[in-house]
Amino acid sequence: MIKVAIVGAGPAGIAAARVLAAHGVVPVMIDEGRRPGGQIFRQPRPDLRLDIEMLLGAEAENYRRTHAAFGSLRDRIDYRPQTLAWGIEDHTLHVTKGDAAATVAFDALILATGATDRTVPVAGWTLPGVFTLGGAQVLLKEHGCLIGRRIVFCGSSPLLYLAAKQYRAMGAQIVAVLDTTPFAAKLTAAVDLAAAPGTLARGLGYMAALRGAGVAMHHGVTLRAFEGSRGVEAVRFHDRHGKEITLACDAVAVGFGLKPETQLAELAGVPLDYDPVFRQWLPRADVDGRCDGGIYLAGDGATAGGAQAAALTGELAACAVLEDHKIAIAGVDRPRVRRQVARLRRFQRGLARAFAWPVHAIQTLDDSVTVCRCEDISVGELRASIRAEFGPSEVNRLKAITRCGMGRCQGRFCALAGAELTAHELRVPVEAVGRLRAQPPVKPLPLSVTLAESAAAAARDETSAPT
Ligand SMILES: Cc1cc2nc3c(=O)[nH]c(=O)nc-3n(C[C@H](O)[C@H](O)[C@H](O)COP(=O)(O)OP(=O)(O)OC[C@H]3O[C@@H](n4cnc5c(N)ncnc54)[C@H](O)[C@@H]3O)c2cc1C
Repeated sequence: MIKVAIVGAGPAGIAAARVLAAHGVVPVMIDEGRRPGGQIFRQPRPDLRLDIEMLLGAEAENYRRTHAAFGSLRDRIDYRPQTLAWGIEDHTLHVTKGDAAATVAFDALILATGATDRTVPVAGWTLPGVFTLGGAQVLLKEHGCLIGRRIVFCGSSPLLYLAAKQYRAMGAQIVAVLDTTPFAAKLTAAVDLAAAPGTLARGLGYMAALRGAGVAMHHGVTLRAFEGSRGVEAVRFHDRHGKEITLACDAVAVGFGLKPETQLAELAGVPLDYDPVFRQWLPRADVDGRCDGGIYLAGDGATAGGAQAAALTGELAACAVLEDHKIAIAGVDRPRVRRQVARLRRFQRGLARAFAWPVHAIQTLDDSVTVCRCEDISVGELRASIRAEFGPSEVNRLKAITRCGMGRCQGRFCALAGAELTAHELRVPVEAVGRLRAQPPVKPLPLSVTLAESAAAAARDETSAPT
């Protein structure tokens, strides 16, 4: 029997597991979350009752279907929740659960690791009460908490309108939705957005519902600052005519789309290519998610593409595993699934233009703004380092000199802005300054695990040393 491991129990991982289990393969499914579902179908804590219909609206049906699919799989897979996959070498995944470390050997590994919020530094973004859009959703979906009572939603992301709608449904007052992309950009992306008319209609429906409820919406704004003394109390921005406006609030949710979690793929040796539309480095795989060395990619971890694309690419990755191990595939119409994925990818490219990454806003940030929250590094410190004689000309060198990206988040929240600032200072395209290389562990480990791993590595070195 082939040994297959899946990292991620979101829509992509669950779809992959379903196809594998249907072919008699018993995958090991690893997820750091407490319960399956991933981000979009995150479940409430076991002791919490949430009105899923009210929270998710039209997505509630898919939520139920995904969890039912997982329920019917549960006995046919080796599911390991609350387990972090932190490194990969030689067809072996390094994992940890609490203080216990373990390894999982695999012939094939499907990485369905999802995405993280893509953030842009804004003056005051480190104030208590400022959350990422995804963070605000996690609190609501898993813990039933609102981030505040009077909330400003801002940034540029399809999640902007969705999260605002969900918060409103659960009783929050939405002070305003501030979209940094001009409305005209959404119109120019219309041809690609039309590739998924149902999803487009849902998105427009969120906007219409918010507008109908009297929520103020501004397009083409420039965020100036989140203000307050002990916590956020206001958002100051310029509207599209350049007029300065300040809105009082007690919480802010801000986000600029998603950033695929590519670290494990990179550790497994998958090359990454720069994508000018997403303005990100994305792992290289064939149409079915196949990479070299028994690695397969699915879902947002390959390209942020939404839950439907995640599930479809999960199916394709599982089929690729079966095909590569000479197992006949039944029950999946791959040409049809590939066509659906291609259509959804076109839609995502439209979304990337409709909710643009605000390059100019990053390039013109004030020196005093914090870029790296973990290590408390400001824009000014980065600029000074780059301008210095023999200053860094790529981001890994910049990290070594300034520590930007060296902290707890390992660059998840500062790397993209750091790269834009570096490229702008050096007057080169952003792809020319490279990307932060992934390092194991991909997330912080308990010290006990780190010590045990070091001891094991030392023992391995000793036995392999020439006598
Ligand atoms: C915070 C957040 C909220 C979102 N909310 C919505 C929403 O409400 N509606 C919507 O349409 N889209 C939402 N999205 C987009 C959404 O992620 C995708 O559309 C969809 O869930 C992608 O499915 P996936 O299976 O690829 O990844 P995910 O659903 O993100 O699942 C990935 C899983 O991998 C696990 N994982 C990742 N790395 C590791 C590791 N190293 N070790 C162990 N486990 C790991 C994670 O715990 C997670 O459960 C959200 C995205 C984020 C980041």
